[in-house]
Amino acid sequence: MKQILFILMLLSWVSCNTQIDNDASVEVEADWKRLASYKAGETPPKPKNIILLIGDGMGVTQISAGMYMNNNKLNLEKFPVVGLHKSYSHDKLVTDSAAGATAFASGVKTYNGAIGVDADTIPVKTILEIAEDRGLATGMVATSTIVHATPASFIAHQKSRKMYEEIAADFMNTEIDFFVGGGKRYFDRRADDRNLYQELQDNDYVVSDYFKEDLIQCELSWKKNFAYFTADNDPLQVSQGRDYLFLASKMGMAFLRNHSEKGFFLMIEGSQIDWGGHANDADYIISEMIDFDRTIGEVLKFAEKDGETLVIVTADHETGGFAINQESEMGNLKTAFTTDYHTADLIPVFAYGPGAQMFSGIYENTAIFHKMKKALAR
Ligand code: MG
Ligand code: ZN
Repeated sequence: MKQILFILMLLSWVSCNTQIDNDASVEVEADWKRLASYKAGETPPKPKNIILLIGDGMGVTQISAGMYMNNNKLNLEKFPVVGLHKSYSHDKLVTDSAAGATAFASGVKTYNGAIGVDADTIPVKTILEIAEDRGLATGMVATSTIVHATPASFIAHQKSRKMYEEIAADFMNTEIDFFVGGGKRYFDRRADDRNLYQELQDNDYVVSDYFKEDLIQCELSWKKNFAYFTADNDPLQVSQGRDYLFLASKMGMAFLRNHSEKGFFLMIEGSQIDWGGHANDADYIISEMIDFDRTIGEVLKFAEKDGETLVIVTADHETGGFAINQESEMGNLKTAFTTDYHTADLIPVFAYGPGAQMFSGIYENTAIFHKMKKALAR
């Protein structure tokens, strides 16, 4: 029975869908002092929910450019705890998104291209699967295809990131409760003639897609699972009219909170900051960065009200060797790139909520998995 409408959510979404809400920073500050401060030797407070936001290719310069082009303001500034992670992979100082996401998802350094498998191609359990095992609700939202390296590494186990159809089939092996992203064709137009779109429906998912209806029009039931495809292949860029990251994330939080009393794990990816870096296109990076930050603001609002949610924002790596050069002005940047691939920079980690303090300092990218696992331990 499809029952629950998102009318109320829609109304609140429309009303706050304009600009970053800077007033919220005062409340956040009062709250973080309570949530992030505990004495040395004390066990950090445990969150009920974890929301991990990954800005693919989002190094310090991508963040800086987004901030200077957004009236010198980002929601990221509201985070009380900031750390840095070492992004290198098992065999390369410069990682790719598959090894980077597998490090976050499973706590292992693996080879570039690996999806949820270790350096010997052995499958490794992911934080999403651990959460699912413990009865938490789980979800993913991405602005790439849902089978692309970053989301794939949280649910699939394949030796190559290019095995999109095999990765899609792995979605049938873990009961993820909510997902939104592109890549419908890997589910319903496959070489093996399986129709995973239909299989999801048979497995008690409400499934819909961009061709049938807009995401906002979908009728969800808290009791069923939910999958929505935003494109056949890659979703559009923000500059071409894509605007679902904010809504899908907001829907995801509401849905998952109501789906299990035990809490939830949600991964949200701003996938295309990386693609702007590969294209050496500063405007592309900046528009994607600001879109991602707007979603971060909404997640922080949820976490503030909820009080039991750990929010972590990070990136897998930097892309482009992006720089802001001399003669730049606020709102008018002179940028440059050193490469059309990734770099080996240290990557910032932002944390808010119960357990946030664990994320200060400098550590390996794999430590993000271990810290999340510790936070989930009961
Ligand atoms: Mg990605
Ligand atoms: Zn990339």
